Amino acid sequence: MRQRIDRDPAPLPGAFDAHTHTWSTPEFDADYDAVMARAWAAGLGGVVEVGVDTASSEQCRALAARDARVHAAVGLHPEHAGRLAEERDGIARAAQAGAIAIGEIGLDFSRPGPSAEQQAAAFRWQLDLARQHRLPVVVHARDADDACFAILDEWSRHVGPYLGVGREVGMMHCYAGDATLAAHYVAIGFLISVPGTVTFPNNLRGQEVARAVPLARMLIETDSPYLTPAPHRGRRNEPAYVVETARFVAGLRGCSPEEVVRTTAENAARLFDLG
Ligand SMILES: [Zn+2]
Repeated sequence: MRQRIDRDPAPLPGAFDAHTHTWSTPEFDADYDAVMARAWAAGLGGVVEVGVDTASSEQCRALAARDARVHAAVGLHPEHAGRLAEERDGIARAAQAGAIAIGEIGLDFSRPGPSAEQQAAAFRWQLDLARQHRLPVVVHARDADDACFAILDEWSRHVGPYLGVGREVGMMHCYAGDATLAAHYVAIGFLISVPGTVTFPNNLRGQEVARAVPLARMLIETDSPYLTPAPHRGRRNEPAYVVETARFVAGLRGCSPEEVVRTTAENAARLFDLG
């Protein structure tokens, strides 16, 4: 039987959840404030709320306006790429009004949805938007490794280090590729974000990635309410659980959880230009 632990995670001060959808309804409608109180009690220093269309991007911006530890990314998710014509103005307005990144954007060929052409069009338009506003990008790639890398490789050559030398231009959210591809993404200026699924015993590829990527190029994230890490697996995911991912990654790498937390939070601050 799957073990369930219903107590709150032991705190790890300074942890940063680089990707969450705590704005999401109905999952967090009833207890958003309690969820975030648990996050701060777990030691989190900040979270990035990530939109998937105009309405959710505006929800992210509203949450960010309420608390300086909450940051908003705005964008059109590839599963909504078919609505680019209707969403374009809203996403552009949200980016103009204030966000720390454009996302989540990318390609998802894992299920029926918008065509590859529609997804690529929405992706490329938002890559341009990021460059225009001098913001990094938050990239979702599922069952689309080759196509996604091809677009980002070409884009990164075209735009160069447009956020400044020594600053990355984006993050691969919930990275699910192999360690070789991760090294290619690092080489073109991307951080690799490790989700809670790294804690699943059969996720050997994710664990190999978490060992191989330099800590200085890594982020950790929950992708709440999805992908809940052990030992909370089976429950709704929430930002506090990012500390479990930090502990697991530390175990894989043979370093302290504090080092994982400190370095990944520094990486997030650099990527998103957080004071
Ligand atoms: Zn997400």
